[in-house]
Amino acid sequence: ESEREKELLEMFVSVVGLKGVGVAGQKNGLNSAVLMNGSGSKTRVVVTGAAGKTGRLILQKLMTNDSYAVTGVVRSQDSAMKLVKELNLQQDAIVAADILDKQALNSVLSKGIDTLVIATSAVPKIDYFSLVKVFVSKIFGKTARPSFTFKENQMPREVDYIGQKQQIEVAKEQGCKHVVQLGSMGGTDPNNFLNTIGNGNILLWKRKAEQFLMDSGVLYTIVHAGGLQDSPGGEREVLLNVDDRILSENKNRAISRADVAEVCVQAVMNPDVYGNRVFDVASRPKGEGKPTTDYVKLIVDLKENCNYNLDVDKTIAQLE
Ligand code: NAP
Repeated sequence: ESEREKELLEMFVSVVGLKGVGVAGQKNGLNSAVLMNGSGSKTRVVVTGAAGKTGRLILQKLMTNDSYAVTGVVRSQDSAMKLVKELNLQQDAIVAADILDKQALNSVLSKGIDTLVIATSAVPKIDYFSLVKVFVSKIFGKTARPSFTFKENQMPREVDYIGQKQQIEVAKEQGCKHVVQLGSMGGTDPNNFLNTIGNGNILLWKRKAEQFLMDSGVLYTIVHAGGLQDSPGGEREVLLNVDDRILSENKNRAISRADVAEVCVQAVMNPDVYGNRVFDVASRPKGEGKPTTDYVKLIVDLKENCNYNLDVDKTIAQLE
């Protein structure tokens, strides 16, 4: 029970983005292998959501690899300047485009794209009044959950469906050959707690965007992450599975953002084995099993892809 509470707290902290909690002094696990593409020219990779907590790790890892010309996309010019400063990057490594603005997307992706990594997501905001209820309930030995909202026009329908769909459409128009899409576990269950956050049905809208990608004709890798933690990467055994079996069968559904970033980077580097794959990812607790080093074997050993039998449109219509 205390493990579950810890996990919920970690998820809560990561969802509301509380600054300074559990991140101080941790390293990012920047250990991507170098893989030359043989042609002498660099593969052009665009990472959206590059200012996000996982997006920036993907960006940093890819930037350590000379085979790639990497551009990060963030929402605004202010975020771009902030990220350039924080990560000590070249100014032109980061560009601004709201993913809901198709023209802006077109403009930034028209500079050339071979691979797109989507790490954008609707971000819920905590309703601070609900925290009072949580604390009062705690005093009386009861439990209550905090509530969340999304900003206007930044609901999962907009950001996770329309925004992702537009990214895929524009990338495809610009000649992109492979899209790596970062999402979340839990999508097989319409009643998953995450769908209730801010009445957003976030997992369902993400799933609809995933279906769009799979039908797009572009090579795809869809990564359903478990509960994200800001712990160091490269220290745990990474587990892949399908159809939320990790949620129902495995006690540990958490994974460090650095390990998720590594899986995304490995997908970029190895489209031959990561192409047209859709899977869930978590990790064993530290000290259990062996830290994963062979990410090609990891995906080759997974013999199934997630199924998409759930009728998302019907389910959303029933819930909304
Ligand atoms: P995050 O820090 O919340 O980053 C999301 C990024 O998307 C933010 O940088 C945000 O920009 C950007 N974004 C949102 N709307 C945008 C727009 N209209 N235009 C441009 N950029 C926009 O993400 P994370 O916590 O690393 O999560 C990465 C992924 O893993 C997400 O898909 C998430 O749902 C999934 N996941 C999370 C958990 C968890 O425990 N939190 C568990 C499993 C899976 P701003 O910074 O400007 O807002």
